[in-house]
Amino acid sequence: MASLSGSMRGYMREPRLMSVKKPVLYVVSPCYNEAEVIGAFYDALKAVLSSLKDIDHRILLVDDGSSDATLDVLNALADRDERVLVYSLSRNFGHQVAISAGIAKSRGDATIVMDSDLQHPPTLIPEMLVSWRAGHDVVSAVRRSTDDATLFKRLSSDGFYTVINWLSDTRIEPGAADFCLMSRKARKVLAGMPERHRFVRGLVAWMGFRRAYLPYVAPPRAAGHSKYSLRKMLRLALDAVFAFSVAPIRLATRVGVGIAALGALYLVYVIGRALWLHDTEPGWSSLLGTLLILGGLQLAFTGLIGEYLARIFEQVKGRPLYVFKQTPEERPRRATSAA
Ligand code: UDP
Ligand code: MG
Repeated sequence: MASLSGSMRGYMREPRLMSVKKPVLYVVSPCYNEAEVIGAFYDALKAVLSSLKDIDHRILLVDDGSSDATLDVLNALADRDERVLVYSLSRNFGHQVAISAGIAKSRGDATIVMDSDLQHPPTLIPEMLVSWRAGHDVVSAVRRSTDDATLFKRLSSDGFYTVINWLSDTRIEPGAADFCLMSRKARKVLAGMPERHRFVRGLVAWMGFRRAYLPYVAPPRAAGHSKYSLRKMLRLALDAVFAFSVAPIRLATRVGVGIAALGALYLVYVIGRALWLHDTEPGWSSLLGTLLILGGLQLAFTGLIGEYLARIFEQVKGRPLYVFKQTPEERPRRATSAA
């Protein structure tokens, strides 16, 4: 830190040097009980980052309340390398919150979010930077296949993306996990979203901006085992559905109206039969008709209440209503002006 502010003062005294200052890339990585693999991850990442001559870097590691030696390993890395920044959460908050914390703490010109188990290959970083320099605000790596993924994981993942894209207005690219690069602008928007149940790849999709997709093949985990239990996966899927869709509650209204209409039709039919054919069981048919109408109306009104609830929910989420791609101050000026 001292050396950093020292060099900053150097730049202040020597204004011409300001222009030579390199852009800074932040790599944010959540780590939960990854002591076995962090060393290999750091080595692979550092090799790539050191080879980038025109951009400086920081490695921001977020320990998500690990119960093994992860935090010690991270701190040891920070002792060795002044570009490593370590944050540690007070308990296990989960992958999505750990990522969010890292994004909130990152600075610089671009931020890359990646897993710390080497399933997100650091060798993709140079390509991501090329896309970013070409003007994309979000560059998402899209997983083409995972060599060690079980059939269950693949099927559940495919099913999940089909359902969420069917339910939600925000298109979420299948396979685009949380391995992505964000420009400073996109990072600030994401960090400004206050909602608590976070589904980061959905929020990234919601933001818009110019987005690029880079395919990659995810290798098996370098060491350790997956921290995503079935329970955590389910919770993530539900967070995604409830944060990005009001379709389930609308279903109640539609089904309810449908049932009530059926009941009304049935009653008309029964009354007609009773009047003209005189062959209906007394009591029974009218009971069924009223039951259907009442049951249907109840469901419909539950759905109606749900609509209000959904709107309150939208409001309470407090997502910004819109995001500027460019503000007047940011308008590119032409170099040929009177100046
Ligand atoms: N992770 C985390 N908190 C958790 C679970 C996972 O920070 O509660 C991190 C983990 O250390 C890894 C990334 O999130 O860097 C992805 O987790 P994992 O590899 O276990 O998931 P999978 O690749 O099996 O879906
Ligand atoms: Mg993994």
